Amino acid sequence: MSKILIKNCIIVPMEKSINDPGPLYYEGDIAIEGNLIKSVGDKVEQDFKPDTVINGSNFVALPGFVNAHTHAAMTIFRSYADDLPLMTWLQDKIWPAEDKLTKEDVYWGSKLCVLEMLLSGTTTFADMYSFMPEVAMVVEETGIRACLSRGLIGTGPGGEQGLLEGEELVKNWHGKADGRITTMFGPHAPYTCPPEYLEKVMDLAKKYQVGIHIHVAETLGEFNDIQKQYGRTPVGHLNLLGLFEYPVLAAHCVHLTDGDIDILKEKGVAVAHNPESNMKLASGIAPVVQMLNKGITVALGTDGASSNNNLDMLEEMRSAALMHKAAGDPTVIYSYQALEMATKNGAKALGLGDKIGVLKPGMVADIILVDFDKPHLYPRHDILAHLVYAAQSSDIDTVIVDGKIVVQSGKPLTIDVKETCEEIQKVANKIVGSSGSR
Ligand SMILES: [Zn+2]
Repeated sequence: MSKILIKNCIIVPMEKSINDPGPLYYEGDIAIEGNLIKSVGDKVEQDFKPDTVINGSNFVALPGFVNAHTHAAMTIFRSYADDLPLMTWLQDKIWPAEDKLTKEDVYWGSKLCVLEMLLSGTTTFADMYSFMPEVAMVVEETGIRACLSRGLIGTGPGGEQGLLEGEELVKNWHGKADGRITTMFGPHAPYTCPPEYLEKVMDLAKKYQVGIHIHVAETLGEFNDIQKQYGRTPVGHLNLLGLFEYPVLAAHCVHLTDGDIDILKEKGVAVAHNPESNMKLASGIAPVVQMLNKGITVALGTDGASSNNNLDMLEEMRSAALMHKAAGDPTVIYSYQALEMATKNGAKALGLGDKIGVLKPGMVADIILVDFDKPHLYPRHDILAHLVYAAQSSDIDTVIVDGKIVVQSGKPLTIDVKETCEEIQKVANKIVGSSGSR
């Protein structure tokens, strides 16, 4: 069993809540045995003989980031269709281009996404897309952790086929790659999945005992359309259908009534907040402060690279904090809260809260080391504020997933960067042409 010792680093374990007594970070060692954390902070036992010792001075250790909502292969469309309204972007640009994708394209698009995520400290992501066996292969090969769902659209001709593929994904991949892969069913949204289709999804979720990943109340247009069609809000509509009787990861939740927020709390629905995508597509400002105050699990996601346009969770934390402060109160989404959203809330939202998201003995070792020996990270008044407001993804030095080092000194150990960039450019040229969209 491999043993790693990280010596003398500053540890941000994320175990405490803000009101608990004692410091939120301290100096110490971290010992990893196999894929588990053996000790955090304490002096390591004498008989612990590490194969790898990492000198942690100037490093800050924290749980790897959980990107709670993305569409990995959409890196293919990064910078292809910017500065458009959501429905124009989707219907005129993204969906027609996605129709041309092959499984090989999705493989390379997902690999580029995983490369970017690992380099920027993301150790787990929740994905919703098509050709999911290829995404699972990427996860298996690269060493990252993921919760995968086959995106399902019930209104088009591929609805039934999607359900079959979603079921195959769960059957073939749930618990695979040493347990790094879990699965959910992924009905796209209430406006693309009619009630009878969602019934089928719920039957499958029940049969396989897995959760449901869905976009909810992303735009005002969706909110109004669902109101008109069903006489209820998107959240009220899904609740009445019984969807929230299952573990649900609800992406966006931008347009909510007070009653909707009560429903999300009561039913234990986890929300993936995507501030940059919401800003870029002018979807609106989700009532995140209200949801957090209610005790709803709010995680953070980047959404696909086509509406962000990167997959950088440090940036997403900063955007989340700034976006909600800009609404008029600089005290909301304080740095520790932003860190919680990016780590332990994400773990909880993906149903992995008992495994990852905090650094403590017995948890799985998904750990990142941030190099704080950088001009923009001096002086060190507050490590937490630095992580949220000043750190950059290029400060991520080491990434450990499932007890294995996958990024070392800022270099990926499991992915060929040159090959991945060359292949993705070929895919992009094939799908949309080398001259781009304009
Ligand atoms: Zn999305």
